[in-house]
This record gives sequence, structure tokens and C-alpha cells, in this order.
Amino acid sequence: MCIFCNIIEGKIGADKILESEKFLAFKDINPIAPIHILIIPKEHIESFNEVSAENMADITSFIKEVAKEVGVFEDGYRIITNINENGGQEVKHLHFHLLGGTKLSWPKLG
Ligand code: AMP
Repeated sequence: MCIFCNIIEGKIGADKILESEKFLAFKDINPIAPIHILIIPKEHIESFNEVSAENMADITSFIKEVAKEVGVFEDGYRIITNINENGGQEVKHLHFHLLGGTKLSWPKLG
């Protein structure tokens, strides 16, 4: 079972921010911004490549709820999902990084 499935099952602890029937949001253990939340589907979906358009519609609404919950909705924030090897995806369970809490830089990558 993957690490995020273990978090969903409660076998590994996480600092939860928001939960719904289908999705979970919790703090990233190694934050790279003042606010760094991970948003995941409870269903094990490997990456963005495998997610359905219907699930994306639902997760979009959930992400906006999380942004409101942590107080960044109006000031701004960034959503990132890393995909496979070149995208730098370490955990093979679809997750969206929500970054905020400061004016984020836009680094040249690669
Ligand atoms: P990625 O590189 O896009 O696959 O991102 C994986 C993210 O998961 C990294 O930012 C890690 O810091 C984070 N992470 C890994 N294990 C945990 C955990 N147990 N709780 C919270 N965040 C985690």
C-alpha cells in the first residue's frame, strides 16, 4: 500500500486540513512555502495522467475549499502536480501541492 493510502487509512499520521468523502488535504511534511498542503483523492490514482475529467471537476472544487480554509483564496496561491520521472513525482498517488502564504517566486526549472 502506498504512503498516501496509509494516511487515508489512518495507519500513518498526518496534519489534516480538510476532508470529504472523496478527498483529503493535509500539510506537507517538508514544506517549501509558509503554506504547503497536499490534496489527494482517497481513491488510489497514480498520477494526473490517470485521473478522469469527472474526478478533476470534483477535486477542483475541493482545492478551492482548501484554499479558502487556509486563507489564501483571495491573495493567491499556486497548485502544482508533478507527473512521473521528468515531472519529479516521488509519491505515486495523485496529489496537488497547494503553495502560498507569501509572494511565490517563479524559478527557472531545468
Ligand atoms: P512529489 O515529489 O510531487 O511526489 O511530492 C511528494 C510530497 O509528499 C513531498 O513534498 C513530501 O514532502 C511529501 N510527503 C511525503 N511523505 C509525507 C508524509 N508522510 N506526510 C506529509 N507529506 C509527505
